[in-house]
Amino acid sequence: MFENLSERLSGVFERLTRQGALSEDDVRTALREVRVALLEADVSLPVARDFVNRVQEQATGQAVTKSVTPGQQVVKIVHDALIDVLKGEGDPGKLKIDNPPAPILMVGLQGSGKTTTTAKLAKRLTERDGKRVLMASLDTNRPAAMEQLAILGTQIGIDTLPIVKGEDPVAIARRARTQASLGGYDVYMLDTAGRLHIDEELIRQAAAVRDVANPRETLLVVDGLTGQDAVNVATEFDAKIGVTGVVLTRMDGDGRGGAALSMRAVTGKPIRFVGLGEKMDAIETFEPERIAGRILG
Ligand code: GDP
Repeated sequence: MFENLSERLSGVFERLTRQGALSEDDVRTALREVRVALLEADVSLPVARDFVNRVQEQATGQAVTKSVTPGQQVVKIVHDALIDVLKGEGDPGKLKIDNPPAPILMVGLQGSGKTTTTAKLAKRLTERDGKRVLMASLDTNRPAAMEQLAILGTQIGIDTLPIVKGEDPVAIARRARTQASLGGYDVYMLDTAGRLHIDEELIRQAAAVRDVANPRETLLVVDGLTGQDAVNVATEFDAKIGVTGVVLTRMDGDGRGGAALSMRAVTGKPIRFVGLGEKMDAIETFEPERIAGRILG
């Protein structure tokens, strides 16, 4: 997920820790390299700049350069700053699913991995939390997408709402709620339609579903491979629909990880999960402490 960035940073810090005594200039030079490494990882410019400024402020204080292990102190400051930039409030992996049946709304552009992620999360909720989950596809424009969710459901043993031809997304959301209540489900997941771009119709439909479903969580699925675009998509979705978190997919294919590092700082929304492959188990909670450790190797 962060292979390239991690490699670059470990080079910078290795030099720094090997050096023993450090002047403020040494620290400044190293942090300039950190900034370049972040930008090359496709971290957005203001985020990279703020990050380095913050670290610089803390690292050029007397205590660091005068300490016995100045290089390690700088690494520690970077580590903590990384956690700060990634961390939202609360536990990212804990979905609000009290008061059954709890609706979870899944939104995102077509091809972002929304349907796959819906199924992955349903499986996770079932296996880890012992919840009964019902999944429903609201993608009435694309019958194939509805079929896809049903096929995934069968594959992983999770119920899907039967498809009724001609029903609109709001009606499907209502039927999902009724079925979830009657069937004793803990959670029902609404996989909304995606389109290639954010347009009026996409937003109108997602907002209409949100208004009837009153979701406990609205998770935006974005393709991590699209880097800063993923962050722009998240900003726009949040402004128009309101999201409670982001799922970044295809992080198995992104050695740079820039979207992951910019997302919370730019949008104010935490990344809750990352998709790491096509398999139904290829999803992980986005835990800032672990991620910071992974980046710094
Ligand atoms: P949707 O149009 O947003 O519902 O997208 P889909 O769920 O149909 O996913 C599109 C393609 O991306 C499928 O082939 C998925 O298997 C694949 N995909 C989804 N998530 C991931 C991921 O985290 N990593 C990888 N490598 N592929 C993924």
